Amino acid sequence: MQDRLQLVEGDITTLDVDAIVNAAKSSLLGGGGVDGAIHRAAGKELVAECATLGGCQTGQAKITSGYRLKARHVIHTVGPIFGAEDGDEDALLASCYRESLKLAVAHGLKTIAFPSISTGAYGFPMDRAARIAVGEVRAFLEANPSIEKVLLVCFGKESLRIHQEALAIES
Ligand code: ADP
Repeated sequence: MQDRLQLVEGDITTLDVDAIVNAAKSSLLGGGGVDGAIHRAAGKELVAECATLGGCQTGQAKITSGYRLKARHVIHTVGPIFGAEDGDEDALLASCYRESLKLAVAHGLKTIAFPSISTGAYGFPMDRAARIAVGEVRAFLEANPSIEKVLLVCFGKESLRIHQEALAIES
């Protein structure tokens, strides 16, 4: 049986899954990086729905429709800003993965793709973030058989290499 946790290199906005996760800002009103790419690909309806949600706290998650994306839903989570969370960065990043997956289960979703949350503008070291992502997703999958597949989407070869290392260390 293939592992339910898989790495894929590429652009998360192209994936045909039940939900892609957005590394959002707390306003949920769009930003740069993967957030900007997801909003551009989904169309204006996405920001309109996001505007009804009242924002999102760091480490929490909210769900919307996927609009023009192939993905049926977008789960918006707000990652920690590295160095600005009073030492709670690791716990908050773990919470992003866990809360996003809890929402997926609550909505009966089976396939979910994550970007490398907080490792762009929010400055989290990618090797440390990748180990947290792998550990958290693995633990969640063990406890939640309803989720069929979680993809960690690596944007570029260097990201893929770092995530492959994290997978090897954490297994
Ligand atoms: P954050 O503010 O949480 O750091 P960013 O969007 O700046 O969010 O970066 C998060 C990660 O997403 C980075 O590793 C970045 O390279 C990656 N990324 C950017 N665009 C895409 C995309 N289209 N698909 C997947 N990953 C992406």
